[in-house]
Amino acid sequence: MTWDAAAGARHDPEGAQLENAQVLGTDGTFRTGTVIMKDGVFGADDDSGAVAHRTDATGMWLTPGFIDAHTHLAWQAFDAADRERHSPEEQASDVRLNAGRTLAAGVTSIRDASGLTVTLAQEAGGLRAALSVQLLGPADARGAAHLRGRVQQLADAGASWIKVLATGGVGAGERVLDPVFDALELKAIHVAAAHANLPVMVHAWGGDALTWALESGAASIEHAVLISDEQCRLAADRGAFVVPTVWIYTDVLAMAESGALPSVLAPAARRAVEAHPLAVRRCLEAGVQLAMGTDAGLDTQHGRNLHELAALIEAGVPVDTALLAGTAGGARLLGRRDLGVIRPGAPADLVCFNADPRRPEVLRDPSRVVAVFVRGQLLHQAG
Ligand SMILES: [Zn+2]
Repeated sequence: MTWDAAAGARHDPEGAQLENAQVLGTDGTFRTGTVIMKDGVFGADDDSGAVAHRTDATGMWLTPGFIDAHTHLAWQAFDAADRERHSPEEQASDVRLNAGRTLAAGVTSIRDASGLTVTLAQEAGGLRAALSVQLLGPADARGAAHLRGRVQQLADAGASWIKVLATGGVGAGERVLDPVFDALELKAIHVAAAHANLPVMVHAWGGDALTWALESGAASIEHAVLISDEQCRLAADRGAFVVPTVWIYTDVLAMAESGALPSVLAPAARRAVEAHPLAVRRCLEAGVQLAMGTDAGLDTQHGRNLHELAALIEAGVPVDTALLAGTAGGARLLGRRDLGVIRPGAPADLVCFNADPRRPEVLRDPSRVVAVFVRGQLLHQAG
């Protein structure tokens, strides 16, 4: 098929109809069908007569727009000091570039896990973005009163999520499970966030901090590299999501080994690469809800978002479950049940692949994404 018809939809309020495509259903499987987009939403079959452009989409695989529930759209370097060297103008251009790559990868919504401000989000070029603005980390471990103030500051700055660093990351080496906050501080963050009506996303590899986060009411645990069976059961009971970031550690490990990142990061990254697939399978066994997150934060990582779906599949997640984690699962986590599904009346966020996205090698090849629509507008076209 050509994308002339799709390109027409960009300016044409008459909408578009893609026929004979493989369409992802709400059960995570594909069926041959027709997708209609009109007035920014998906249409029903009886809207067909009202649509101007009809395209034979034989050979195309259509999915809802993917949701990256953990990315850092404004980040382009591993070190905070390197990131801070960028001027506001440079940051704006970083966001434009990263957003373009993210959209081209088939991601139409993100939850930013720190770095993206309300001002910078205006540069995201149509990408839907939920913001945490800035994370609460070691510098904030100064008691409950300070944390209540910080949560309020973030709410005032436009955060729709509160992001908490509850353990270290690859930079923490052996001490990666050491809690950043004590149990009372974590509880104080959650109480203040609930008061401001903001859900909390908690970076935790494992250990006590992960348990405290779940007990405090975290909406999602990020990474969860060393999550235990008991913690998985607690997450399932509490309805908390886990957002594993399996691919990123393989990327960090490769960079640490090649010298592109400091070699001191290699041991913890290797530990994550070894343990993470097991953690993901533990979550599945316990019935924990998964959402896709990448933790992309380097210019070389933005745009490779669907590598994470490939990594989940290779970690043992069934393909349908992985595709749902990347679409409807992320939408549920974000409180946007209208996203992540191709359903009449839902916003027409659509990704068109020219190959079967159930195959990891297709997910790892952004050139297989030939068109991406947000609200029925063509925002990316292969080309
Ligand atoms: Zn992150």
